[in-house]
Formats: sequence, structure tokens, C-alpha cells
Amino acid sequence: MTEKLLDPDRLFPADPSTREIARSLYDIVRHLPIISPHGHTDPGWFATNACFKDAASLLLIPDHYLFRMLYSHGIAMESLGVPRVDGGPVETDTRKIWHLFAAHYYLFRGTPSALWMDHVFHEVFGLDEAFSPATADAFYDHITAELQTDAYRPRALLDRFNIELIATTEGAVDELPHHRAIAGTEWARRVITTFRPDDAVDPEREDFRANVARLGEMTGEDTGSWSGYLAALRARRATYREFGATATDHGHPTAATADLGRAECETLFGRCLSGTVSPADAELFRAQMLTEMAGMSLEDGMVMQIHAGARRNTNAEVFSRFGRDKGADVPSATNFLDGLQALLNRYGNEPALRIILFTLDETTYARELAPLAGHYPCLKLGPPWWFHDSPEGMLRYRQQTTETAGFYNTVGFNDDTRAFLSIPARHDVARRMDCRFLATLVAEGRLRFAEAEELAPDLAYHLAKRGYNL
Ligand SMILES: [Zn+2]
Repeated sequence: MTEKLLDPDRLFPADPSTREIARSLYDIVRHLPIISPHGHTDPGWFATNACFKDAASLLLIPDHYLFRMLYSHGIAMESLGVPRVDGGPVETDTRKIWHLFAAHYYLFRGTPSALWMDHVFHEVFGLDEAFSPATADAFYDHITAELQTDAYRPRALLDRFNIELIATTEGAVDELPHHRAIAGTEWARRVITTFRPDDAVDPEREDFRANVARLGEMTGEDTGSWSGYLAALRARRATYREFGATATDHGHPTAATADLGRAECETLFGRCLSGTVSPADAELFRAQMLTEMAGMSLEDGMVMQIHAGARRNTNAEVFSRFGRDKGADVPSATNFLDGLQALLNRYGNEPALRIILFTLDETTYARELAPLAGHYPCLKLGPPWWFHDSPEGMLRYRQQTTETAGFYNTVGFNDDTRAFLSIPARHDVARRMDCRFLATLVAEGRLRFAEAEELAPDLAYHLAKRGYNL
């Protein structure tokens, strides 16, 4: 039996009548433009429009989803060309790195990474064979040659992928050089920034004090004082809005918020700047800053995203050799109900405020997040994130949140990726899984087909635009 690399009915229900409904719904959404309101692509790609280098440098070396799996089977990250913090030697022969990937590609069977990669090979590069050691060289040569053509430059791919808008994510002391470079051009409407101030808000970061000082230099505010620090953050938010930002993002280890008095804030901030901050002070400071940021969002209208519950850099040796984002981040249990209480007591009833919550703790979907978003006017649920951005994760999300929060307290899909070429694949998986979920409700008589026909494009496109004020 010859099998296509990509099954046209992949991810749809196996039952023929439900499958038929899912296909009809998918036909409505499959060609809709992509809205990518949160992610980590490099804005420099779109500003310079330079060609990508080669298959391994683009598709493998920057992707921690891929090398964490390879690392888990004992493959050294040096041999995959992952750069070392100390600049020490790592493999630079990208063909050799690609061969190593091909030899271990079977490890990804059953994972979303395989779904995405196969989509990239088939849909983006037109390769019809399976990726394996036998086809590794042919894949490498074909992909690397294509990447040197104009059709594979970043802006051409934005067009080809039908990406209407993509948001990048920049820290609070970023000079935004690439967004400045495209300002005033048509690309500025399509490539926007997002304000993510973790670098100047988390006192446990090694560069916190330097970043707070830098914040002062950039804005002319005295960031040695609490009021000057807040004024500087307000000023930075305004700058990011000039470069298209409609949202902020906050990656915190917990969902803790606090609402301290001004004098307490001043002394806490002083302790954070002293250089020896206790874990409790650091947590309290981050918690206070979420409430401060919510207050600023109410003033300036920026949508606030909270990505809570990633325990970062759990592998000390990998962190010291390779730095952040190297596959050693792990989900942790997250308490949204107690954590968000202080913020919600202060701002929870403000319909003009929008906070989008993301979790890595799936046990919170039905117990905390859906009930919270199904009540508080300021809260919306972000899509399944990171480890749960997968077919099963998407199904669990809809199954556990819809009955309490409905569809319209959710905000469509985020690809949240740094792997640019996988964006169409990721949105396609989300669209297929939502059509599958809707088809099941229709088949079971819980939703009319006419309602599903409206919901499918809302989930694929309109809710993201609405949720992020785009
Ligand atoms: Zn993200």
C-alpha cells in the first residue's frame, strides 16, 4: 500500500459520518488567513528579508522541541551544533548535523513535532518521500537550494503562508531595531512587536539590575525609585505601541499577584535592587508587578497575556553550558484561583481590561480557568500552550473548558513558535482539531451545523483578531 506522507483526513474523527462533518467545516477555514498574535520569530528576518542558510540551521538547530528529544536519547547538543555559552567548539558541519537528525527522526513518531516537520517537508518544500537516513541528503540538498531562492525569503513566505499578521516578542530594554527598520512601510502593519518586560520585572534574573538601569537610560526616568521605575515602564509600553504592539506578555513561574500599598512597594523595590533578593521577595515583587501591569493595561488598552507555570532551566548543567530555552523547561502545578485573587479584587470587574491566561497545568482547565473566564469580564483563556499545543492537548482543552467558559471566552490559536516554517502546520493542526471537536458536537446533536459553520471561522480567525484588538 502506498501511503501519502500527509493523510488529507489526518486528525479527523475515524467514524465516517462525523468525519464528513469535520471535512465540511474544515473546507470553510482551511484557506483563511493566519493571524499569529503571539510568537517568537526573529523580526530581523522580516526586516532584512535575507535568505535562510541551510536546512539544519533553519529547521533543527534553533528548535528546542527537536533537540530536547534527541538529547533525551543521549545525543550531545554540541553534536547538533547548539551554540555554547562559552563559545567552545560545537559541530559546524550542517550536513553532518542533518544526518544525525535523520538517523533519529523515528524518535518523533506520534509527537506533534513529526506532524509539523512532515507538513514542512511536504507542503512547504514539496518533498513527497518520508524523511529518513536514506533520503537525508536529498532533503538537505533540495531544502538548502530552495532556501537560496527568492520564493523562500522571509517576506515571500509570509505571503505564501497567507499570514495576515505576525507578532514578535521583545524584552523591555530592546531597542526594537528591526521594527524601527520597517516602520512606515507596509510590513509594519503585518509584523508587530509585543511588550514582554520579564527582563526588567523579575529580580531573580541575573541581568535584572542592569536592565532596570538601562530602562532609566532609555526613558530618562530615575529607575532607582519606585515611581520612576513605573514611569519608565509606562514610557516603554508607549514606544512598543508605536511599533504596532497591542499586547504585553508576562512569563512568570507562578500566577501569584499582589496588591501592596505604595510604601511597601517602595521598600520591596529597594530590596530587589540591593542585589541580594530573597526568593520570597522576588516572588512578591513579580506578583505586585502583574497587578501594576494590569493597571497600566487599563490605562493604555494593551491586552495582557500571562504565561504562568513554566519551571525554567531545570537542568543546571545544560543551563550553564548552553543558556536558556534549551529544552529543560518543565510544567509545574499552578494555582490560578489563589494567585490571581489580588489582581481580580482590584481590577477583575473592569470590562475594558483584557487578560489572556495560559497554563501548562491542564488540571486547572475545568477546575479554575474555565470557571474564572466564565465569570470575570476581564479574563479570557489562551489556547493550549507549549507541551499541550498538540492534537490531544487541544482536544482536552476544548473538552474541559467549553461547557463552563463557552467558545467565546477563548481567543483562537497562538502558534507561539520560533520555528517560522512550522507556522502553517501548527495553525492547520489547530483548525483540524477544532473542526473535529465541532463535528463531534454536531454529530451528537449538541450543536446545529449552522452554528458550527459560524464557530469554525471564529475559532480559526476572528477570535484571535478580536481577542488581541487587531
Ligand atoms: Zn511565547
